[in-house]
Amino acid sequence: MELTKMTMKEVKDYLQKNNTVIIPIGATEEHSEALPLGTDTITAECMAIEVGKLTNRVVAPTISAGNCHSITYAFPGTISLSPKTLTSVIVDYLKSLYKHGFRRFLFVNGHGGNVAPIRCAIDEVAPIFKNSRFAVGSWWRFEELAELYDSAGHAGRGEVSMMLYLTPELVHKEWFTKEEKKLPRYFVSEDLVSEITETGIISDNQNGSAELGKALFEKAVSVYVSMIEELEK
Ligand SMILES: [Zn+2]
Repeated sequence: MELTKMTMKEVKDYLQKNNTVIIPIGATEEHSEALPLGTDTITAECMAIEVGKLTNRVVAPTISAGNCHSITYAFPGTISLSPKTLTSVIVDYLKSLYKHGFRRFLFVNGHGGNVAPIRCAIDEVAPIFKNSRFAVGSWWRFEELAELYDSAGHAGRGEVSMMLYLTPELVHKEWFTKEEKKLPRYFVSEDLVSEITETGIISDNQNGSAELGKALFEKAVSVYVSMIEELEK
């Protein structure tokens, strides 16, 4: 059930039986020349909607711009919310949902730069909220996926596979890059971003497939479903 497609009566009825809400959060940022800017948003939203269908739980509207202040902000099309702004957006999401009775919150996260702001937002509300639980899942970090693939870089094999499975019409295979830079053990200011990447791919290769995407997607969805069971125990 998508919150944007429900009426307030349906929300009221849902809250009589359940107080879990799934919050997809992604990014609008470069994903090399071959993948769409919305890769993280599309992935998080598709996963969240599938988890919502399987568990019969409400899915909040996707937060589709993330924190991309590091690295990808340098490339065309990226829209970035600063870590502070994104934290505030998430806090307001949580407060609104809490105000109406939601108490179990599952973030289905599609973007690395969102991890710290989500955690900061939870830390902001944890002392104020009552009887609430928060879970955050970033699919590429799930250990359950490790047996399927061993690379989790930006715009790399995992995301290529995910897009080939979910939205193949948005993948430009003819623009795949061969760049494979090893990630240094430091961060850079934006003027030095070419030390990390010149083509927008970070620490990975683009040898993906729709089959791998399907396997990663289904496994990630099953992990999220188990996270909901744990949230509601
Ligand atoms: Zn991504």
